[in-house]
Amino acid sequence: MRYIEPHAHMVSRTTDDYEKLALAGCEVLCEPAFWAGFDRSSADGFYDYFRQLTEYEPRRAARFGIKHFCWLCINPKEADDPGFAREVMALIPEFIDKETVLGIGEIGLNKNTRSELAIFEEHVQLALDHDLPILIHTPHLEDKLKGTRLILDSLASFSKLDRSKVIIDHVEEHTVGLVLDAGFWAGMTLYPESKCTPNRAIDILEVYGSERLWMNSACDWGISDPLSVPKCALEMRRRKHTPEQIEKIVFDNPYKFLSQSPRFRI
Ligand SMILES: [Zn+2]
Repeated sequence: MRYIEPHAHMVSRTTDDYEKLALAGCEVLCEPAFWAGFDRSSADGFYDYFRQLTEYEPRRAARFGIKHFCWLCINPKEADDPGFAREVMALIPEFIDKETVLGIGEIGLNKNTRSELAIFEEHVQLALDHDLPILIHTPHLEDKLKGTRLILDSLASFSKLDRSKVIIDHVEEHTVGLVLDAGFWAGMTLYPESKCTPNRAIDILEVYGSERLWMNSACDWGISDPLSVPKCALEMRRRKHTPEQIEKIVFDNPYKFLSQSPRFRI
């Protein structure tokens, strides 16, 4: 089964994981810029990270026939110091026109602070200035609903924003409706324990349908599973979803959303 992994943090993964993804049918993988498992001590740390995302990971993925794309930003977890965040953002123009950079992400909120929100809005403006899509991270656990509402309110203030070019990721049962009703795309992140398990994600699909939804594994530095998308597809089959329905959620939908970036060519 061919599929697209639209949100994976491969900098925290081994080369063996690339091999497993390829064996499972992954043809395209997209890596948003995020926390890398530790707080970077200077903007230089991000300079090297952006080089890793734009130069080294595409080569590592290519050895297994996987096309690697990325998104750029300073993540909300390290954006609470606005001075530091703006230093990192000043590096983005040097990378933004590289051939595998899809857009701005994953921006968003972590602890829902005023500074995080200010930096979030500056990133949205940056994406608008370059006419690029946006990938948004929503906070965890008890901060998720409030954070999602803050993000939706903030986005509503950008009158020129094309909502079909924005995906709000890590939705769960209590936030997916808010995001879809507002006209945005929504991403479901499949984690073994927190966020959505495969079965919870399939429940959501059965309730909300599969328009403007994608699934991803995140597969970051924490307990996560790089194969959770194909495993979820297998579970969909067990629950009597048709091959077309499965192909739509694991390939067609991410293809459709990502094709809005001028760099997404496969
Ligand atoms: Zn992520």
